This record gives sequence, structure tokens and C-alpha cells, in this order.
Amino acid sequence: MRPIATRVSQLNGEGALSVFTRAKELERDGRSIIHLELGEPDFHPAAPVVDALRDAVASGRDRYVSTRGIAPLRSAIAHYLKRTRRLEVANEEVLVAPGCKMALCLAMMALIEPGDEVLYPDPGFPIYPSFTRGVGARAVPFCLEEKNKFQPDLQEIAAKITPRTSALIFNSPNNPTGTVFSRETLEQLAALAQKHDLWVIADEIYARILFNGEFMSIRSLPGMVERTIIIDGFSKSFAMTGWRLGYAVAPKRLIDAMDMLVLNTFTCAAEFTQVAAVEALRDSTNAVDAMVVEYRKRRDLFVARLNRIPGFRCQVPNGSFYAWVNVEDTGLPAEKVANLLLEEVGVAGIAGAAFGDAGKNYLRFSLVSARHLLEDALDRIERISIRWRATVAR
Ligand code: PLP
Repeated sequence: MRPIATRVSQLNGEGALSVFTRAKELERDGRSIIHLELGEPDFHPAAPVVDALRDAVASGRDRYVSTRGIAPLRSAIAHYLKRTRRLEVANEEVLVAPGCKMALCLAMMALIEPGDEVLYPDPGFPIYPSFTRGVGARAVPFCLEEKNKFQPDLQEIAAKITPRTSALIFNSPNNPTGTVFSRETLEQLAALAQKHDLWVIADEIYARILFNGEFMSIRSLPGMVERTIIIDGFSKSFAMTGWRLGYAVAPKRLIDAMDMLVLNTFTCAAEFTQVAAVEALRDSTNAVDAMVVEYRKRRDLFVARLNRIPGFRCQVPNGSFYAWVNVEDTGLPAEKVANLLLEEVGVAGIAGAAFGDAGKNYLRFSLVSARHLLEDALDRIERISIRWRATVAR
């Protein structure tokens, strides 16, 4: 039999899914599980968004449409980015795709050559190194370390840039650490990108899930419009994960290239979801702010109590809905802790190695369950922490 193309063997999966599958198995056996593994909001889209979708389907908005996305949505995205991020974006600098991941993959296919080197955060979203290898390039990690409050070390990044480096990917607020890159960090990254003529892929999917201050996009810095690709979408901020809708903002020549890839692959995102997405961006019920208020309460509750459990330590995340928890003081490998939590007390989290080598002493919990469930999870963790208390006391 002829083999599968080698590029597929270069890809890796996402750790959350295997934990989710095992957690579901345990549930089928009658066990009570608290799901803190998937990065999927427990909210659903606001009622006017669902109504808009229903109306769109009923009125026949189910046709092939523009490969770049329908004009009203591209224009609504440009207005939304001005309102929420103070960005000046032209409609022709926007391309709509079925999900942020697809927007990311299109951008990477359009700008990375085989043999290039691409810098990405470790820990970080596992698809960055995976798809980098998938397009034949070398994925070069830069560390987000606890001692630096998970901000990147700019000297490390500078030292890793070679003549083959073509792009730098980052994600702020970051999955899994919850770090929001500081203005100073963004300015230094921008300076490096300009000095070495790099593309910057800024995954801003968690930009709205921010607990203090105002979000700053690297694209707003001088000289960055022509080299930045913003990736964002509707999955997290608008709780529309299964609707599969994301977008990229990039210079027109790159959007044109991505558009050609769309034409050759999925043709367009569904028309009716795009129509409803215009309503989501309008956010007439202030659903986004309400969700963020709730995420903040969950963060405050979870992180404060978790830090009192022996062996666990967690910096307060400034954005996203994850808690990134150092478990090295338990004296047990993180995989073992994750396994004990799931198998013995039914708390599903992910061992941090799924997010890169730098995650090996960590667990990630998604704060996407109601507060009473988080309280229950903490009670359970506390109960089982007896297993490693002896180690911590030593
Ligand atoms: N980027 C990051 C950093 C993510 O955490 C995720 C989802 O977990 C995505 C992209 C994927 O987004 P989408 O579901 O819109 O494809």
C-alpha cells in the first residue's frame, strides 16, 4: 500500500481531547466528573445571536458566498477592532475562516517556506509547533517561565533568531498560562521583528477575556501593520466554539494569498453563521462583559483556594480562562497528579507537557465550569492531596 504523506506524521494532537475521552468513559461508568480539561466555555451565544442565525437560515442565507467572508461581516470586524482595540483596519485586510485554527493554518501556509524557522511560545497552544512542522519548517520554542511571570525573555528570543527565521507566533492572553504580554514586551518583540524582518502572528483569541487594563495589540505599534497577522474569532469571546468562525487581519497582499487558499479548499465559511456573527459583534446584551465578570469570579475563587492546597502553586492569570498550576512540590510527576485527580476524585485537568516541554511540572485547569463545581473540584483536590502531603512536609 502506498504510504500517507510524511507531513501528516509531523503533526501532533491536542492533549485535552484524550483526557476528555477518558473522563467521558468514567462518566459512562457512573462516576461524577468535573470537567476542567477542555477550553470550551460553558456559556452559549447570546439570544439575539441565536435568533439572527435562525432568521438567516429561514430566509435562505445558505448559499456560497465570498471566499473572504461576506462584506457586512468584514466591515463589522473592522469596526469591532476599532471599538475594542483602537485598530484602524480596512475591510480588504480581513478574511473570514471556519475557526481561528483555520485562519492560523491559512496564514502559515501563505507565509512559511519549507526550511524556515518559526519561533513559538513554550508553553503554548500545541498547534503552533505542530502546523509549523506540517508546512516543512522548524519549530523553535521560546520559554515562558514562572520566574519571569510567564513573560518571554527577549534576550532568549533574540539569540534564537537566525537568517532562516521567518515568523514569530505568540498568544496574549496566553493559553495555558493566562499571561498578558506587557506593553514593554510587545514593543521589544516589535523591534526584533522589524530588525530581522519577521512576520508576527498574534493570536488574539483571548483578547476580550481580560481581567485588568485595556488590551493592546502589537499591530497598533509603529511599523507593525505591514508585518502583523492578527488571528481572532468567535469561539471564546462569544462562546461560539461549534459555530466554527474565526478571522485573520493582515496586509492586503497576504489576505489575497490566503483568499487563493480558501478558493482551493473550503470555498467559504457558512453564510448563516456569518450573518449571525455580525449580531454577535454588535453585542447588544453586553454578553461578553457579563461572561468576563463571571470568569473573573471563578479565577479569584479557584486560584486563591488552590494556592492554599499543599504542593500546588498558581500565579494569578490576567486573562483567558485557564489556571496554570505548578505541582512540582507534590513530589509527584505532573502526569501522575493529573491521573490521580481524574481516576480517584473525578477532576479532569491536563498535564502541562501537552503544551510543550516547559509545561512538564504543571497542570492546566480550564475555569469553564460553574463556581459551585469549582468549589467541589477544590474539595476533591484537597481530599486527595493527603497523598503528597508527606512529600511536601519533608
Ligand atoms: N488559538 C488558541 C490560543 C486557542 O486556545 C484555541 C482554542 O483552544 C484556538 C486558537 C482555536 O480556536 P477555534 O476554535 O476558533 O479554531
